[in-house]
Amino acid sequence: MSRVWNFSAGPAALPEEVLRQAADEMLDWQGSGMGVMEMSHRGKEFTAIAAQAEADLRELLAVPANYRILFMQGGAIAENAIIPMNLMGDKRVADYVVTGAWSHKSQKEARKYAEVNIAATSEASGFATVPPMTDWRLSADPAYVFTCTNETIGGVEYPFEPDLAQIGRGEVPVVADMSSHILSRAIDVAKYGLIFGGAQKNIGPAGLTIVIVREDLLGRAMPHCPSAFDYKTVADNGSMYNTPPTYAIYIAGLVFQWLKREGGLAAVEAHNIAKAKLLYDFLDASDFYENRIDPACRSRMNVPFFLKDESLNEAFLAESRAAGLVQLKGHKSVGGMRASIYNAMPIAGVQALVDFMRDFAARRG
Ligand SMILES: *Cc1c(COP(=O)(O)O)cnc(C)c1O
Repeated sequence: MSRVWNFSAGPAALPEEVLRQAADEMLDWQGSGMGVMEMSHRGKEFTAIAAQAEADLRELLAVPANYRILFMQGGAIAENAIIPMNLMGDKRVADYVVTGAWSHKSQKEARKYAEVNIAATSEASGFATVPPMTDWRLSADPAYVFTCTNETIGGVEYPFEPDLAQIGRGEVPVVADMSSHILSRAIDVAKYGLIFGGAQKNIGPAGLTIVIVREDLLGRAMPHCPSAFDYKTVADNGSMYNTPPTYAIYIAGLVFQWLKREGGLAAVEAHNIAKAKLLYDFLDASDFYENRIDPACRSRMNVPFFLKDESLNEAFLAESRAAGLVQLKGHKSVGGMRASIYNAMPIAGVQALVDFMRDFAARRG
């Protein structure tokens, strides 16, 4: 067996330790005589797996007691509809901060359920930056302010936490799509009304969506909101109103345990800073490659870069693949290359990429 360095944006690489444990437990989970995929979601074995996963996630993110953790399905794109269906209540307007492809898509979907006010957008910069909160123009009485705190496609990450108290609007809940950087750094959950993310970037398999929601925001769903997507129904049933994605929850739980063994989010964040610095410092020192994002807002997780001579793109991709470095092609809307370096990517993988890029530049520059 030989494993590659996988820079996929998602579904993405998982920690090898986690995959090995899952392989060991595939046929018989802890003497139960069953694999996890074969268990009833209401049986004592799976109930214990889900409860442990939730407790570990709560511990890692220091989730306050007045927040509920929901294990849902549908991914982040489904949440773009589920969120306004649940949070509009008796309000008319929802505010959106648009910083790239994902928040753009979110505001577009929300228009089916709400009047949307674009509170700020970085479109004029080609989505290369995050507008500072002092430039956000909130509407008079929004149900929430939506943010995407890491734009996976553009490679833009908030360099601050969107704390509306700093602009005198602390009463408005902040919603954050953290799909591609959840658990990559310590955050203050209390600054948000709702945090969500699909699991397949930085947590586990596709099929699981994590929602962390403040309790006072439950119970406001529109009458036509599907029951399986009504946060209060999901919360009241311990995420088992419908059958949850059991195997994805199990793998996510193994990832949470791995993160705890790694030292928790402070240690993981330090590791991610070192990985990102290695790659960005190399890009900045090079006259062969470039990153075009405002240095203050560069994502630690998703690093888009360009060869200055784009006629070499195909050769770069073919040779990197041959060297065991895969999934480096940039998103089609951006072009160039993108290296996604989530928690599961060790610094040795980033070093292997930098070594390859240096060698390629020396040969082709
Ligand atoms: C991947 C991604 C999505 C879309 O997730 P799906 O699981 O395909 O619905 C939305 N937002 C962000 C920030 C993402 O990275």
